[in-house]
Amino acid sequence: MNFNKNFNNVADSYLFAEVANRVAAFTKANPDKKVIKLGIGDVTLPLVPEVIKAMHGAVDDMASQETFKGYGPYEGYGFLRESIQSYYKESGVELDLDEIFVSDGAKSDLGNILDIFSKDNVVLVPDPVYPVYVDTNLMAGRSVIFADATEENGFLPMPDYSVDADIIYICSPNNPTGAAYTKAQLKEWVDYANEKNAVILYDAAYECFVSDGELARSIFQVEGAKTCAIEFCSFSKIAGFTGTRCGYTVVPKALEKKGFNANKAWLRRQSTKFNGVPYVVQKGAAAVFTKQGMKEIKKNLSYYMKNAKVIADCMDSLGIWYTGGKNSPYIWLKCPQGMGSWEFFDYLLNNAQVVGTPGAGFGRNGEGYFRLTAFGSAEATKEAVQRIKKLLK
Ligand code: PLP
Repeated sequence: MNFNKNFNNVADSYLFAEVANRVAAFTKANPDKKVIKLGIGDVTLPLVPEVIKAMHGAVDDMASQETFKGYGPYEGYGFLRESIQSYYKESGVELDLDEIFVSDGAKSDLGNILDIFSKDNVVLVPDPVYPVYVDTNLMAGRSVIFADATEENGFLPMPDYSVDADIIYICSPNNPTGAAYTKAQLKEWVDYANEKNAVILYDAAYECFVSDGELARSIFQVEGAKTCAIEFCSFSKIAGFTGTRCGYTVVPKALEKKGFNANKAWLRRQSTKFNGVPYVVQKGAAAVFTKQGMKEIKKNLSYYMKNAKVIADCMDSLGIWYTGGKNSPYIWLKCPQGMGSWEFFDYLLNNAQVVGTPGAGFGRNGEGYFRLTAFGSAEATKEAVQRIKKLLK
């Protein structure tokens, strides 16, 4: 018997544990000092009333024999897939219902999708990025190469035709950099993928923060994407479902290589290994896309985006270089005075009691950068910014 030795290739995930350790040590030594956390990627506002109402109604459905639900469809209930379909339509994207698969969140499907790919595929991942892409591939024994995201390219690497990749990850708006591709830039990636016979795994978990019409909300807004891309999205950030768990994956029927149809394979995979998302949760998710639900959701999103603006304005006033903050809840800043990521983390914690996330934790190119998030309360964000200004001006 052998366990999967590929796990030896996965680095210990120590970023948030180390952040927590350092904060705990500081708090222990300085119990009178109030620490403000702008490091978290989790939402803080509760579910909106329309979602709660729908979930309560769904719980009542489960209590009556006539409306009780047992196992649901593997791909998700029709009512939710129809509302996702309409949501895409608003962005000019036409999807067939059987191209939409409801999931328990983007993270699961980002890992699970690898079941349909060959082990010998070469995987291209931007650096820095959400660590799940690298780790899931390393666990499966695939080799990973990196596309450098740097200050020079605005943390938005573009295709390099001298590189042969089979699977390409794109996260836009990006975690951690907040940088987002325009539709024109994505078209270059789509053309590259189609030419190289590659597949783009497009993570749109933060699409709801995009307000600039030039920027993409979905890769399927780009012509040619349906023959080369799979898109992952989530109710986590748009509707605060991080603890409720619901997402969706779009696998176009036109994504076919050498007679292998990705949509068919994904349905086969899901029907074998997945038994769907709870009915109550799907009812709540569908309420997000109703008129009233969306009105309430937009209020929450604008709350976060006001926080993002407060942080971005602070960076502007200090002359600190950053990406994000406009179409993303993340502000990715260059550590002042040439400090390293962890050095700046300690400096900010010790002198302003503000906690962020060291960029080095998201990849080699993250060294020297730092992530702040807009998911805190408005009051805490304002206070953090005042402290940062006082310290760095
Ligand atoms: N993709 C990115 C880029 C994320 O940052 C996150 C969560 O922070 C996820 C996916 C996970 O989404 P979900 O909560 O739907 O699993």
